[in-house]
Amino acid sequence: MTTVDVIVVGAGPTGLMTAAELTLAGARPMVLDTLPERNPMSRAGVIHSRTAELFDHRGLLEPLLATGDFPRTEIGHFAGLPVDYRVWPTRHPAYNVPQGKIEEFLEARLVGGGVPVLRRQQVVNMTADADGVTVTAHGRDGVVRHRGHYLVAADGGRSTIRKILGLDFPGRRGTSTSVTAETVLAGPGSTRQGLMRGRSGHWAIQFPLEERVRRLVVSGPGPAVPKDAEVTADELRAALYAVYGDEVELVGIRRAARIDDSARQITAYRVGRVFFVGDAAHIHLPLAGQGVNTGLGDAFNLGWKLAGAVHGWAPDGLLDTYHTERHPVGARVLANTQTQGLLMDWAGTDNPDLPAARGLLAELLRVPEAMRWMAGMMTGLGIRYDIAGAAEDPLVGMRMPEFDVTVDGERHRAHSLLYSGRGLLLDFTRSEQFSPHARLWADRIDHIHAVPHEDIPTRGMLVRPDGYVCWTSGLQDLGNALRSWFGAPNDDLVARDYPAFQ
Ligand SMILES: Cc1cc2nc3c(=O)[nH]c(=O)nc-3n(C[C@H](O)[C@H](O)[C@H](O)COP(=O)(O)OP(=O)(O)OC[C@H]3O[C@@H](n4cnc5c(N)ncnc54)[C@H](O)[C@@H]3O)c2cc1C
Repeated sequence: MTTVDVIVVGAGPTGLMTAAELTLAGARPMVLDTLPERNPMSRAGVIHSRTAELFDHRGLLEPLLATGDFPRTEIGHFAGLPVDYRVWPTRHPAYNVPQGKIEEFLEARLVGGGVPVLRRQQVVNMTADADGVTVTAHGRDGVVRHRGHYLVAADGGRSTIRKILGLDFPGRRGTSTSVTAETVLAGPGSTRQGLMRGRSGHWAIQFPLEERVRRLVVSGPGPAVPKDAEVTADELRAALYAVYGDEVELVGIRRAARIDDSARQITAYRVGRVFFVGDAAHIHLPLAGQGVNTGLGDAFNLGWKLAGAVHGWAPDGLLDTYHTERHPVGARVLANTQTQGLLMDWAGTDNPDLPAARGLLAELLRVPEAMRWMAGMMTGLGIRYDIAGAAEDPLVGMRMPEFDVTVDGERHRAHSLLYSGRGLLLDFTRSEQFSPHARLWADRIDHIHAVPHEDIPTRGMLVRPDGYVCWTSGLQDLGNALRSWFGAPNDDLVARDYPAFQ
Protein backbone atom coordinates (compact mmCIF):
# COMPACT_ATOMS: atom_id res chain seq x y z
CA MET A 1 0.00 0.00 0.00
CA THR A 2 1.36 3.43 -0.99
CA THR A 3 0.95 6.21 1.55
CA VAL A 4 0.82 9.88 0.57
CA ASP A 5 -0.48 13.07 2.15
CA VAL A 6 -3.41 13.58 -0.19
CA ILE A 7 -5.09 11.22 -2.65
CA VAL A 8 -6.63 13.14 -5.53
CA VAL A 9 -9.22 11.09 -7.42
CA GLY A 10 -9.55 12.39 -10.97
CA ALA A 11 -6.97 13.80 -13.39
CA GLY A 12 -9.23 16.37 -15.03
CA PRO A 13 -8.20 20.03 -14.84
CA THR A 14 -9.43 20.41 -11.26
CA GLY A 15 -7.67 17.35 -9.85
CA LEU A 16 -4.41 18.17 -11.64
CA MET A 17 -4.44 21.78 -10.44
CA THR A 18 -5.18 20.72 -6.87
CA ALA A 19 -2.23 18.34 -7.01
CA ALA A 20 -0.01 21.11 -8.42
CA GLU A 21 -0.97 23.45 -5.58
CA LEU A 22 -0.38 20.79 -2.96
CA THR A 23 3.02 20.00 -4.43
CA LEU A 24 4.06 23.64 -4.50
CA ALA A 25 3.10 23.92 -0.83
CA GLY A 26 5.29 20.95 0.06
CA ALA A 27 2.59 18.28 0.49
CA ARG A 28 2.79 14.91 -1.29
CA PRO A 29 -0.25 14.16 -3.44
CA MET A 30 -1.04 11.21 -5.69
CA VAL A 31 -3.50 11.47 -8.57
CA LEU A 32 -5.57 8.47 -9.69
CA ASP A 33 -7.64 8.30 -12.86
CA THR A 34 -9.64 5.58 -14.54
CA LEU A 35 -8.75 6.66 -18.06
CA PRO A 36 -5.64 5.19 -19.72
CA GLU A 37 -5.00 8.59 -21.29
CA ARG A 38 -6.42 12.10 -21.27
CA ASN A 39 -9.91 12.56 -22.71
CA PRO A 40 -9.26 13.80 -26.29
CA MET A 41 -12.73 15.31 -26.75
CA SER A 42 -12.79 19.10 -27.14
CA ARG A 43 -14.67 20.54 -24.20
CA ALA A 44 -14.27 23.98 -22.58
CA GLY A 45 -12.14 26.43 -24.54
CA VAL A 46 -11.49 29.49 -22.41
CA ILE A 47 -9.68 30.57 -19.28
CA HIS A 48 -11.22 33.67 -17.79
CA SER A 49 -9.35 36.63 -16.34
CA ARG A 50 -9.31 35.44 -12.74
CA THR A 51 -8.09 31.99 -13.73
CA ALA A 52 -5.40 33.61 -15.88
CA GLU A 53 -4.36 35.67 -12.86
CA LEU A 54 -4.25 32.57 -10.66
CA PHE A 55 -1.96 30.84 -13.16
CA ASP A 56 0.07 34.04 -13.23
CA HIS A 57 0.40 33.99 -9.42
CA ARG A 58 2.33 30.75 -9.87
CA GLY A 59 4.38 31.81 -12.89
CA LEU A 60 2.42 29.30 -14.97
CA LEU A 61 0.51 31.58 -17.32
CA GLU A 62 3.33 32.42 -19.72
CA PRO A 63 4.52 28.81 -20.05
CA LEU A 64 0.93 27.67 -20.62
CA LEU A 65 0.29 30.31 -23.27
CA ALA A 66 3.60 29.41 -24.91
CA THR A 67 2.25 25.92 -25.70
CA GLY A 68 0.06 27.21 -28.54
CA ASP A 69 -1.57 30.12 -30.26
CA PHE A 70 -4.40 31.17 -27.96
CA PRO A 71 -6.23 34.36 -28.91
CA ARG A 72 -7.04 36.93 -26.22
CA THR A 73 -10.70 37.80 -25.77
CA GLU A 74 -11.73 41.11 -24.28
CA ILE A 75 -15.41 40.82 -25.12
CA GLY A 76 -17.17 37.75 -23.77
CA HIS A 77 -20.85 36.99 -23.57
CA PHE A 78 -23.74 36.24 -21.28
CA ALA A 79 -26.44 34.28 -23.08
CA GLY A 80 -24.95 35.59 -26.32
CA LEU A 81 -25.12 39.27 -25.20
CA PRO A 82 -21.73 41.00 -25.28
CA VAL A 83 -19.93 41.44 -21.97
CA ASP A 84 -16.99 43.85 -21.88
CA TYR A 85 -14.27 42.34 -19.69
CA ARG A 86 -12.18 45.53 -19.90
CA VAL A 87 -14.32 47.24 -17.25
CA TRP A 88 -12.20 45.37 -14.66
CA PRO A 89 -8.60 46.53 -14.58
CA THR A 90 -6.41 43.49 -15.17
CA ARG A 91 -3.51 42.63 -17.44
CA HIS A 92 -5.25 39.47 -18.43
CA PRO A 93 -8.44 39.27 -20.46
CA ALA A 94 -9.74 35.80 -21.28
CA TYR A 95 -7.59 33.46 -23.39
CA ASN A 96 -9.03 30.82 -25.68
CA VAL A 97 -7.11 27.85 -24.31
CA PRO A 98 -8.71 24.44 -24.94
CA GLN A 99 -9.29 22.39 -21.80
CA GLY A 100 -7.13 19.55 -23.17
CA LYS A 101 -4.15 21.93 -23.38
CA ILE A 102 -4.54 22.89 -19.72
CA GLU A 103 -4.69 19.22 -18.73
CA GLU A 104 -1.69 18.31 -20.88
CA PHE A 105 0.33 21.20 -19.44
CA LEU A 106 -0.51 20.44 -15.81
CA GLU A 107 -0.03 16.70 -16.11
CA ALA A 108 3.37 17.12 -17.78
CA ARG A 109 4.51 19.44 -14.98
CA LEU A 110 3.34 17.08 -12.27
CA VAL A 111 4.88 14.01 -13.86
CA GLY A 112 8.08 15.96 -14.61
CA GLY A 113 8.22 16.93 -10.93
CA GLY A 114 7.90 13.30 -9.83
CA VAL A 115 4.27 13.46 -8.68
CA PRO A 116 2.51 10.14 -9.27
CA VAL A 117 -0.33 10.60 -11.77
CA LEU A 118 -1.51 7.03 -12.04
CA ARG A 119 -3.82 6.11 -14.90
CA ARG A 120 -5.94 2.97 -15.33
CA GLN A 121 -6.75 3.26 -11.62
CA GLN A 122 -10.47 3.14 -11.13
CA VAL A 123 -11.38 3.98 -7.57
CA VAL A 124 -14.10 1.60 -6.44
CA ASN A 125 -14.12 2.09 -2.70
CA MET A 126 -12.85 4.32 0.08
CA THR A 127 -13.04 4.29 3.84
CA ALA A 128 -12.15 7.06 6.27
CA ASP A 129 -10.96 6.72 9.85
CA ALA A 130 -9.58 9.06 12.47
CA ASP A 131 -6.13 9.29 10.83
CA GLY A 132 -6.80 9.17 7.13
CA VAL A 133 -8.48 7.56 4.15
CA THR A 134 -7.90 4.27 2.37
CA VAL A 135 -8.80 3.96 -1.25
CA THR A 136 -9.30 0.77 -3.24
CA ALA A 137 -8.66 0.98 -6.96
CA HIS A 138 -8.83 -1.47 -9.83
CA GLY A 139 -5.79 -1.09 -11.99
CA ARG A 140 -3.63 -2.80 -14.56
CA ASP A 141 -2.11 -4.93 -11.82
CA GLY A 142 -5.35 -5.88 -10.13
CA VAL A 143 -6.72 -4.42 -6.93
CA VAL A 144 -4.48 -1.91 -5.16
CA ARG A 145 -4.91 0.14 -2.01
CA HIS A 146 -3.62 3.64 -1.35
CA ARG A 147 -3.57 5.50 1.92
CA GLY A 148 -3.62 9.26 2.47
CA HIS A 149 -4.31 11.76 5.24
CA TYR A 150 -6.94 13.43 3.07
CA LEU A 151 -8.83 12.75 -0.14
CA VAL A 152 -9.83 15.23 -2.82
CA ALA A 153 -12.74 14.05 -4.95
CA ALA A 154 -12.11 15.57 -8.38
CA ASP A 155 -13.84 12.71 -10.13
CA GLY A 156 -16.32 14.67 -12.18
CA GLY A 157 -20.08 15.03 -12.37
CA ARG A 158 -20.76 11.36 -11.77
CA SER A 159 -18.38 11.25 -8.80
CA THR A 160 -17.81 7.76 -7.44
CA ILE A 161 -16.66 9.20 -4.12
CA ARG A 162 -19.95 11.06 -3.74
CA LYS A 163 -21.80 7.81 -4.32
CA ILE A 164 -19.59 5.78 -1.97
CA LEU A 165 -20.30 8.31 0.78
CA GLY A 166 -24.01 8.18 -0.04
CA LEU A 167 -24.21 11.95 -0.50
CA ASP A 168 -27.10 13.71 -2.19
CA PHE A 169 -26.47 15.80 -5.26
CA PRO A 170 -29.46 18.09 -4.98
CA GLY A 171 -30.71 20.18 -7.85
CA ARG A 172 -32.66 19.43 -10.93
CA ARG A 173 -32.35 16.88 -13.69
CA GLY A 174 -31.62 17.90 -17.29
CA THR A 175 -34.57 19.11 -19.29
CA SER A 176 -32.85 18.92 -22.66
CA THR A 177 -29.83 17.20 -24.15
CA SER A 178 -27.62 18.62 -26.86
CA VAL A 179 -24.96 17.01 -28.96
CA THR A 180 -21.47 18.44 -29.13
CA ALA A 181 -19.33 17.03 -31.89
CA GLU A 182 -16.05 17.43 -33.73
CA THR A 183 -17.09 17.27 -37.36
CA VAL A 184 -16.05 17.78 -40.94
CA LEU A 185 -18.72 19.80 -42.73
CA ALA A 186 -19.23 20.87 -46.34
CA GLY A 187 -21.59 23.23 -48.15
CA PRO A 188 -22.02 27.02 -48.25
CA GLY A 189 -23.19 27.20 -44.61
CA SER A 190 -20.29 25.17 -43.25
CA THR A 191 -18.11 28.17 -42.45
CA ARG A 192 -20.72 30.10 -40.53
CA GLN A 193 -19.64 31.27 -37.08
CA GLY A 194 -21.65 31.16 -33.90
CA LEU A 195 -25.28 30.52 -33.12
CA MET A 196 -27.93 29.98 -35.79
CA ARG A 197 -31.57 29.31 -35.07
CA GLY A 198 -33.69 27.12 -37.30
CA ARG A 199 -37.29 26.06 -37.32
CA SER A 200 -39.31 24.90 -34.30
CA GLY A 201 -36.71 25.63 -31.62
CA HIS A 202 -33.78 23.87 -33.34
CA TRP A 203 -30.43 25.64 -33.18
CA ALA A 204 -26.75 25.06 -33.86
CA ILE A 205 -23.45 26.64 -32.93
CA GLN A 206 -20.33 26.01 -34.97
CA PHE A 207 -16.78 27.30 -34.94
CA PRO A 208 -13.43 26.10 -36.27
CA LEU A 209 -11.38 23.79 -34.06
CA GLU A 210 -8.46 22.96 -36.30
CA GLU A 211 -7.76 22.50 -40.00
CA ARG A 212 -11.04 21.21 -41.52
CA VAL A 213 -12.47 20.15 -38.15
CA ARG A 214 -15.38 22.19 -36.77
CA ARG A 215 -16.91 22.06 -33.32
CA LEU A 216 -20.65 21.73 -33.64
CA VAL A 217 -23.27 21.94 -30.91
CA VAL A 218 -26.84 21.14 -31.92
CA SER A 219 -30.02 21.00 -29.95
CA GLY A 220 -33.72 21.37 -30.18
CA PRO A 221 -36.99 20.56 -28.51
CA GLY A 222 -37.74 17.14 -27.21
CA PRO A 223 -37.21 15.18 -24.01
CA ALA A 224 -33.76 14.71 -22.47
CA VAL A 225 -31.85 11.77 -23.99
CA PRO A 226 -29.60 9.64 -21.73
CA LYS A 227 -26.09 11.08 -21.91
CA ASP A 228 -24.60 7.66 -22.64
CA ALA A 229 -26.80 7.08 -25.72
CA GLU A 230 -24.66 6.86 -28.85
CA VAL A 231 -24.70 9.89 -31.17
CA THR A 232 -25.54 8.82 -34.72
CA ALA A 233 -24.72 10.47 -38.03
CA ASP A 234 -28.41 10.38 -39.01
CA GLU A 235 -29.39 12.30 -35.91
CA LEU A 236 -26.72 14.96 -36.59
CA ARG A 237 -27.83 15.23 -40.24
CA ALA A 238 -31.44 15.78 -39.17
CA ALA A 239 -30.36 18.43 -36.64
CA LEU A 240 -28.23 20.22 -39.27
CA TYR A 241 -31.09 20.14 -41.78
CA ALA A 242 -33.48 21.67 -39.21
CA VAL A 243 -31.15 24.66 -38.84
CA TYR A 244 -29.31 25.12 -42.15
CA GLY A 245 -31.55 23.28 -44.61
CA ASP A 246 -29.42 22.04 -47.52
CA GLU A 247 -26.62 24.51 -46.78
CA VAL A 248 -24.55 22.26 -44.51
CA GLU A 249 -23.60 18.69 -45.22
CA LEU A 250 -22.11 16.35 -42.65
CA VAL A 251 -18.99 14.74 -44.10
CA GLY A 252 -17.66 13.02 -41.01
CA ILE A 253 -17.72 12.86 -37.21
CA ARG A 254 -14.45 12.57 -35.32
CA ARG A 255 -15.90 12.53 -31.82
CA ALA A 256 -19.30 13.28 -30.33
CA ALA A 257 -20.88 13.39 -26.89
CA ARG A 258 -24.06 14.54 -25.24
CA ILE A 259 -24.30 17.33 -22.70
CA ASP A 260 -27.34 18.40 -20.76
CA ASP A 261 -28.56 21.24 -18.61
CA SER A 262 -28.75 19.41 -15.26
CA ALA A 263 -28.01 21.80 -12.41
CA ARG A 264 -26.84 20.23 -9.17
CA GLN A 265 -24.58 21.15 -6.29
CA ILE A 266 -23.38 19.11 -3.36
CA THR A 267 -24.57 20.42 0.02
CA ALA A 268 -21.24 20.18 1.86
CA TYR A 269 -17.93 20.58 0.00
CA ARG A 270 -16.18 18.95 2.97
CA VAL A 271 -17.11 15.66 4.58
CA GLY A 272 -14.49 15.03 7.27
CA ARG A 273 -11.25 14.22 5.46
CA VAL A 274 -12.85 14.31 2.01
CA PHE A 275 -13.15 17.47 -0.12
CA PHE A 276 -15.20 17.86 -3.29
CA VAL A 277 -13.90 20.04 -6.10
CA GLY A 278 -14.91 20.85 -9.69
CA ASP A 279 -17.72 18.95 -11.37
CA ALA A 280 -17.82 16.48 -8.48
CA ALA A 281 -19.22 19.39 -6.43
CA HIS A 282 -21.28 21.25 -9.05
CA ILE A 283 -22.66 20.56 -12.50
CA HIS A 284 -24.53 22.88 -14.81
CA LEU A 285 -24.94 23.69 -18.47
CA PRO A 286 -21.36 23.84 -19.78
CA LEU A 287 -21.40 27.40 -21.06
CA ALA A 288 -18.61 29.90 -21.61
CA GLY A 289 -15.96 27.94 -19.71
CA GLN A 290 -17.76 28.29 -16.40
CA GLY A 291 -17.18 24.63 -15.46
CA VAL A 292 -13.42 24.52 -15.89
CA ASN A 293 -12.84 27.96 -14.46
CA THR A 294 -14.92 27.27 -11.36
CA GLY A 295 -13.11 23.96 -10.82
CA LEU A 296 -9.71 25.64 -11.12
CA GLY A 297 -10.87 28.29 -8.63
CA ASP A 298 -11.84 25.50 -6.23
CA ALA A 299 -8.38 23.98 -6.60
CA PHE A 300 -6.56 27.24 -5.83
CA ASN A 301 -8.78 27.86 -2.82
CA LEU A 302 -8.31 24.39 -1.35
CA GLY A 303 -4.69 23.54 -2.17
CA TRP A 304 -2.83 25.77 0.30
CA LYS A 305 -5.35 25.18 3.08
CA LEU A 306 -5.05 21.43 2.77
CA ALA A 307 -1.27 21.69 2.64
CA GLY A 308 -1.45 23.73 5.86
CA ALA A 309 -3.39 20.88 7.49
CA VAL A 310 -0.85 18.34 6.22
CA HIS A 311 2.00 20.39 7.70
CA GLY A 312 0.07 20.77 10.94
CA TRP A 313 -0.16 24.58 11.02
CA ALA A 314 -3.71 25.05 9.68
CA PRO A 315 -5.71 26.84 12.35
CA ASP A 316 -9.08 25.53 13.50
CA GLY A 317 -11.68 26.16 10.91
CA LEU A 318 -9.32 26.91 8.01
CA LEU A 319 -10.35 23.79 6.10
CA ASP A 320 -14.01 24.66 6.61
CA THR A 321 -13.51 27.99 4.86
CA TYR A 322 -13.12 25.98 1.65
CA HIS A 323 -16.85 25.20 1.81
CA THR A 324 -17.97 28.59 3.11
CA GLU A 325 -16.05 30.40 0.38
CA ARG A 326 -16.54 28.15 -2.62
CA HIS A 327 -20.10 26.90 -2.14
CA PRO A 328 -21.58 30.38 -2.78
CA VAL A 329 -19.36 30.75 -5.86
CA GLY A 330 -20.65 27.42 -7.22
CA ALA A 331 -24.25 28.39 -6.45
CA ARG A 332 -23.77 31.61 -8.37
CA VAL A 333 -22.41 29.69 -11.36
CA LEU A 334 -25.47 27.43 -11.34
CA ALA A 335 -27.72 30.50 -11.26
CA ASN A 336 -25.84 32.18 -14.08
CA THR A 337 -25.78 29.15 -16.36
CA GLN A 338 -29.45 28.37 -15.67
CA THR A 339 -30.36 31.94 -16.57
CA GLN A 340 -28.24 31.79 -19.71
CA GLY A 341 -29.83 28.49 -20.73
CA LEU A 342 -33.26 30.07 -20.35
CA LEU A 343 -32.40 33.27 -22.25
CA MET A 344 -30.65 31.35 -25.04
CA ASP A 345 -33.60 28.98 -25.25
CA TRP A 346 -31.26 26.02 -24.90
CA ALA A 347 -34.24 23.68 -24.59
CA GLY A 348 -35.73 24.93 -27.87
CA THR A 349 -39.08 26.04 -26.45
CA ASP A 350 -39.49 28.86 -28.98
CA ASN A 351 -41.00 30.93 -26.17
CA PRO A 352 -42.21 34.16 -27.89
CA ASP A 353 -41.40 36.26 -24.79
CA LEU A 354 -37.68 35.53 -24.86
CA PRO A 355 -36.70 38.31 -27.30
CA ALA A 356 -38.32 40.83 -24.94
CA ALA A 357 -36.40 39.46 -21.95
CA ARG A 358 -33.14 39.50 -23.91
CA GLY A 359 -33.83 43.05 -25.10
CA LEU A 360 -34.34 44.28 -21.56
CA LEU A 361 -31.18 42.60 -20.34
CA ALA A 362 -29.21 44.10 -23.24
CA GLU A 363 -30.52 47.52 -22.21
CA LEU A 364 -29.61 46.91 -18.57
CA LEU A 365 -26.06 46.02 -19.60
CA ARG A 366 -25.66 49.52 -20.99
CA VAL A 367 -25.62 50.77 -17.39
CA PRO A 368 -21.90 50.83 -16.44
CA GLU A 369 -22.43 49.37 -12.96
CA ALA A 370 -24.54 46.53 -14.38
CA MET A 371 -21.85 45.73 -16.95
CA ARG A 372 -19.20 45.77 -14.22
CA TRP A 373 -21.28 43.38 -12.11
CA MET A 374 -21.84 41.05 -15.04
CA ALA A 375 -18.19 41.09 -16.14
CA GLY A 376 -17.11 40.51 -12.54
CA MET A 377 -19.29 37.41 -12.39
CA MET A 378 -18.29 35.98 -15.76
CA THR A 379 -14.55 36.57 -15.36
CA GLY A 380 -14.36 35.63 -11.66
CA LEU A 381 -12.76 39.02 -10.92
CA GLY A 382 -15.82 40.05 -8.90
CA ILE A 383 -15.50 37.17 -6.42
CA ARG A 384 -15.34 38.49 -2.88
CA TYR A 385 -14.93 36.14 0.03
CA ASP A 386 -16.58 36.85 3.36
CA ILE A 387 -13.39 37.61 5.29
CA ALA A 388 -13.29 39.46 8.63
CA GLY A 389 -12.72 43.15 7.91
CA ALA A 390 -14.50 43.11 4.56
CA ALA A 391 -17.13 45.50 5.91
CA GLU A 392 -14.46 48.06 6.86
CA ASP A 393 -12.10 47.88 3.90
CA PRO A 394 -13.12 47.38 0.26
CA LEU A 395 -9.82 45.60 -0.48
CA VAL A 396 -10.45 42.81 2.06
CA GLY A 397 -11.96 39.64 0.61
CA MET A 398 -11.14 40.75 -2.94
CA ARG A 399 -8.29 39.54 -5.11
CA MET A 400 -5.08 41.52 -4.72
CA PRO A 401 -5.35 44.22 -7.39
CA GLU A 402 -2.92 44.26 -10.31
CA PHE A 403 -0.17 46.86 -9.83
CA ASP A 404 3.57 47.16 -10.14
CA VAL A 405 5.94 47.59 -7.21
CA THR A 406 9.60 48.31 -6.73
CA VAL A 407 11.35 45.84 -4.44
CA ASP A 408 15.06 46.32 -3.68
CA GLY A 409 15.35 48.67 -6.64
CA GLU A 410 13.71 46.30 -9.12
CA ARG A 411 10.31 46.62 -10.72
CA HIS A 412 7.94 43.66 -10.28
CA ARG A 413 4.31 42.86 -10.84
CA ALA A 414 2.74 42.50 -7.39
CA HIS A 415 1.04 39.31 -8.61
CA SER A 416 4.41 37.70 -9.29
CA LEU A 417 5.31 38.02 -5.59
CA LEU A 418 3.08 34.99 -4.96
CA TYR A 419 5.15 32.55 -7.07
CA SER A 420 6.31 30.80 -3.90
CA GLY A 421 2.72 29.82 -3.06
CA ARG A 422 3.18 31.24 0.44
CA GLY A 423 1.30 34.06 2.16
CA LEU A 424 2.49 37.58 1.38
CA LEU A 425 2.77 40.54 3.72
CA LEU A 426 3.19 43.40 1.30
CA ASP A 427 4.56 46.32 3.28
CA PHE A 428 4.51 49.85 1.86
CA THR A 429 5.73 51.58 5.07
CA ARG A 430 9.54 51.76 4.73
CA SER A 431 9.53 50.99 8.48
CA GLU A 432 9.83 47.89 10.60
CA GLN A 433 6.42 48.24 12.25
CA PHE A 434 5.10 44.93 10.83
CA SER A 435 8.37 43.06 11.26
CA PRO A 436 7.82 41.62 14.77
CA HIS A 437 4.72 39.82 13.52
CA ALA A 438 6.22 38.90 10.19
CA ARG A 439 9.17 37.21 11.86
CA LEU A 440 6.91 34.94 13.89
CA TRP A 441 5.22 33.59 10.77
CA ALA A 442 8.32 33.73 8.58
CA ASP A 443 8.08 30.00 7.82
CA ARG A 444 4.66 30.57 6.16
CA ILE A 445 4.65 34.11 4.78
CA ASP A 446 7.00 36.35 2.83
CA HIS A 447 7.35 39.86 4.24
CA ILE A 448 8.24 42.18 1.38
CA HIS A 449 8.89 45.91 1.59
CA ALA A 450 7.69 47.45 -1.63
CA VAL A 451 6.98 50.81 -3.21
CA PRO A 452 3.75 50.68 -5.22
CA HIS A 453 3.67 52.40 -8.62
CA GLU A 454 0.11 53.49 -8.14
CA ASP A 455 -2.00 54.81 -5.36
CA ILE A 456 -2.91 51.79 -3.22
CA PRO A 457 -5.06 52.99 -0.30
CA THR A 458 -3.26 51.10 2.45
CA ARG A 459 0.15 50.94 4.15
CA GLY A 460 0.28 47.18 3.90
CA MET A 461 -1.78 44.13 3.05
CA LEU A 462 -1.72 40.46 3.94
CA VAL A 463 -2.46 38.30 0.92
CA ARG A 464 -3.32 34.61 1.08
CA PRO A 465 -1.48 32.19 -1.21
CA ASP A 466 -4.51 32.17 -3.53
CA GLY A 467 -4.21 35.91 -4.04
CA TYR A 468 -7.04 37.15 -1.81
CA VAL A 469 -6.49 40.05 0.58
CA CYS A 470 -7.22 38.99 4.18
CA TRP A 471 -5.94 42.03 6.09
CA THR A 472 -4.94 45.64 5.45
CA SER A 473 -3.21 48.18 7.67
CA GLY A 474 -6.58 49.91 8.22
CA LEU A 475 -7.71 46.92 10.28
CA GLN A 476 -5.18 47.11 13.14
CA ASP A 477 -4.75 43.58 14.44
CA LEU A 478 -2.27 41.93 12.11
CA GLY A 479 -1.53 39.18 14.64
CA ASN A 480 -5.16 38.08 14.66
CA ALA A 481 -5.29 37.91 10.88
CA LEU A 482 -2.06 35.89 10.78
CA ARG A 483 -3.41 33.46 13.36
CA SER A 484 -6.73 33.10 11.53
CA TRP A 485 -5.18 32.29 8.18
CA PHE A 486 -1.72 30.93 8.98
CA GLY A 487 -2.11 29.35 12.42
CA ALA A 488 -0.13 29.82 15.59
CA PRO A 489 3.19 31.67 15.45
CA ASN A 490 6.42 29.76 15.38
CA ASP A 491 6.84 28.50 18.98
CA ASP A 492 10.62 28.58 19.06
CA LEU A 493 10.74 32.20 17.99
CA VAL A 494 8.02 33.19 20.42
CA ALA A 495 9.92 31.59 23.30
CA ARG A 496 13.21 33.21 22.28
CA ASP A 497 12.20 36.70 21.13
CA TYR A 498 8.72 37.38 22.43
CA PRO A 499 8.09 35.63 25.73
CA ALA A 500 5.25 38.08 26.35
CA PHE A 501 3.31 36.46 23.46
CA GLN A 502 3.20 33.08 25.25
C1 LIG B 1 -18.56 16.80 -24.20
C2 LIG B 1 -18.31 17.89 -23.23
C3 LIG B 1 -18.25 19.19 -23.67
C4 LIG B 1 -18.05 20.21 -22.76
N1 LIG B 1 -18.00 21.49 -23.22
C5 LIG B 1 -17.81 22.49 -22.36
C6 LIG B 1 -17.79 23.82 -22.82
O1 LIG B 1 -17.92 24.09 -24.00
N2 LIG B 1 -17.62 24.80 -21.89
C7 LIG B 1 -17.49 24.51 -20.56
O2 LIG B 1 -17.35 25.40 -19.75
N3 LIG B 1 -17.46 23.26 -20.11
C8 LIG B 1 -17.63 22.25 -20.97
N4 LIG B 1 -17.68 20.98 -20.51
C9 LIG B 1 -17.57 20.77 -19.05
C10 LIG B 1 -16.12 20.71 -18.59
O3 LIG B 1 -15.42 19.82 -19.40
C11 LIG B 1 -16.09 20.30 -17.11
O4 LIG B 1 -16.69 21.32 -16.35
C12 LIG B 1 -14.67 20.05 -16.61
O5 LIG B 1 -14.08 18.97 -17.29
C13 LIG B 1 -14.67 19.74 -15.12
O6 LIG B 1 -13.38 19.38 -14.72
P1 LIG B 1 -13.15 18.39 -13.50
O7 LIG B 1 -11.68 18.22 -13.40
O8 LIG B 1 -13.88 18.88 -12.32
O9 LIG B 1 -13.85 17.03 -13.91
P2 LIG B 1 -13.55 16.09 -15.16
O10 LIG B 1 -12.89 16.85 -16.25
O11 LIG B 1 -14.83 15.40 -15.46
O12 LIG B 1 -12.49 15.05 -14.62
C14 LIG B 1 -12.87 13.98 -13.78
C15 LIG B 1 -11.85 12.87 -13.92
O13 LIG B 1 -12.13 11.89 -12.93
C16 LIG B 1 -11.92 10.61 -13.50
N5 LIG B 1 -12.71 9.65 -12.72
C17 LIG B 1 -14.05 9.56 -12.63
N6 LIG B 1 -14.40 8.56 -11.81
C18 LIG B 1 -13.25 8.00 -11.38
C19 LIG B 1 -12.96 6.91 -10.52
N7 LIG B 1 -13.91 6.19 -9.93
N8 LIG B 1 -11.66 6.59 -10.28
C20 LIG B 1 -10.68 7.31 -10.86
N9 LIG B 1 -10.90 8.34 -11.70
C21 LIG B 1 -12.17 8.68 -11.94
C22 LIG B 1 -12.39 10.77 -14.93
O14 LIG B 1 -11.81 9.79 -15.76
C23 LIG B 1 -11.91 12.18 -15.26
O15 LIG B 1 -10.64 12.17 -15.87
C24 LIG B 1 -17.88 19.93 -21.38
C25 LIG B 1 -17.92 18.63 -20.94
C26 LIG B 1 -18.14 17.61 -21.85
C27 LIG B 1 -18.16 16.20 -21.34
